Amino acid sequence: MNYQQWLQQAEQQLKKTAEYDPYLNPKADANLLLQAVTKRSKSAIFAFGEMSLTDQELELLKPLLMRRVQGEPMAYILGEKEFWSLPLAVSTATLIPRPDTERLVEIALEEANKRLDSGKKLRILDLGTGTGAIALALASELQERAEIIGVDKQPEAVELAENNRQKLAFSNVNFLQSDWFDSLKNQSFDLIVSNPPYIDENDENLSQGDVRFEPLTALVAGQNGIADLQKIIENAPLYLNKNGVLLLEHGWKQAEQVRNLFKQNQWDNPETVQDYGGNDRVTKAVWTK
Ligand code: GLN
Repeated sequence: MNYQQWLQQAEQQLKKTAEYDPYLNPKADANLLLQAVTKRSKSAIFAFGEMSLTDQELELLKPLLMRRVQGEPMAYILGEKEFWSLPLAVSTATLIPRPDTERLVEIALEEANKRLDSGKKLRILDLGTGTGAIALALASELQERAEIIGVDKQPEAVELAENNRQKLAFSNVNFLQSDWFDSLKNQSFDLIVSNPPYIDENDENLSQGDVRFEPLTALVAGQNGIADLQKIIENAPLYLNKNGVLLLEHGWKQAEQVRNLFKQNQWDNPETVQDYGGNDRVTKAVWTK
C-alpha cells in the first residue's frame, strides 16, 4: 500500500467518527499520523504519494488510526502538542494545552514588561501548571529577567512539566507539587497566572471531542465551575508583592462573575480581555494594598 492509498482509506474510516465528533478532521488527522510514523513532512508525503509503506510502518499505523477512530485526541496519540511554538509532551494526567491559553501568555507578558524597569528579577507563579505550558512559554520569552515557579496538585503533572523543562533546557523555571498555594508559604510574586479548572460538571461539552479523554481534575470545578477561580482570587493577595497582578483564564460566560469576585475581595479595577475568537477569556486585577 502506498502513502496515497493509506491516506484515502484512513480518511474514510475517520469520516465515520467525524459525524459525531465535530473536532475531528479526517484528512488532516490521517496526514499527521502518517507523518509521525514515516517521519516525513507533509510536503514529502504529498510529493511521494506513490511511495510504498513498509510492513513495519503499516503495523505501527494500525493501532494509532484505531485510537483516533475511537475519538482519542491527536495530542495523546502523538504524545505531543505545540504551545507558543514549544513542542510539549502531554499525558492523560493533564489538560492538552489550548491556543486560547496563548492569550493568557500574551497578557502576562504585557504585565511582566510593565514591571521590568526596576532591574530586579520578576517572580512569577503558574498555578495548576499541567504540562508546564504557561510557565515554559513565559520562561522562553523572559529568559533571565524572571524566576518562574509552576505548581500542580498532581505529581504526574509536576513530573511531566519538569521533563518538558529539561528537554527545553530552561533554567529560569522550577516545578513543584502544591495544592494551589499550600506549599508556597512565605513566598511572594509579582505575577500570578492560572488556567484552573472552570467547567461546570453538568456542561454538555464534556461529552464531546477531546475533553472526554482529559482528566476531570483539570477541567471541572465545583459551584458551577467557579470554585477554584474563587479560591485563587481569595488567597492570591497573601502571595503578591505590592502592585502585583493576578491573571486568570475562565469560561466565556464567567467574566462578570469573576470580576465580581475580584471586587468583593478588595481588588482594584478588574479587567476582562477577549481571546481571538472574540470570547471573554482572561480577567486580571492588580493588588495595590
Ligand atoms: N478551555 C477549556 C475547554 O473549554 C477548559 C480549560 C479549563 O477548564 N481550564 O475545554
